[in-house]
Amino acid sequence: MAVTRTFSIIKPDATRRNLTGAVTKMLEDAGLRVVASKRIQMTKEQAEGFYAVHKERPFFGELVEFMISGPVVVQVLEGEDAVKRNRDIMGATNPADADEGTIRKCFAESIEANSVHGSDSDENAKIEIDYFFKPEEIVG
Ligand code: UDP
Repeated sequence: MAVTRTFSIIKPDATRRNLTGAVTKMLEDAGLRVVASKRIQMTKEQAEGFYAVHKERPFFGELVEFMISGPVVVQVLEGEDAVKRNRDIMGATNPADADEGTIRKCFAESIEANSVHGSDSDENAKIEIDYFFKPEEIVG
């Protein structure tokens, strides 16, 4: 299995409850290494651009408002099969459907305020990493 990278966001509901460390520990315990990390306040334009794929969905406006409602921690994670490994430890989008032991089962408040984002493919991981990080900010 190849070592790859994925992109993660610790969302405002989690930073607000001081769960940055707890979420990061679950990522690390799942075999992922944090090779870049920064705490930022996203602008509306940044959030709209990031979630542009969802712009026709009914929840888009609320999702953007949620993502700018407080600081987020954007991270690049590295590990074997990183995209899948991260999706597995995140759990289902809706915490009601998430498996025991996943981040969203442990911490998510709702289908919207679900504590973490993770890229869904290697291709999107590259696009999302490039959206938030300069190459020199990533130290493997
Ligand atoms: N979302 C929402 N309502 C929905 C579905 C999704 O607010 O009915 C939000 C939620 O924060 C989710 C994000 O939109 O994490 C992106 O949705 P996606 O279907 O890509 O889920 P994910 O890949 O994050 O599991």
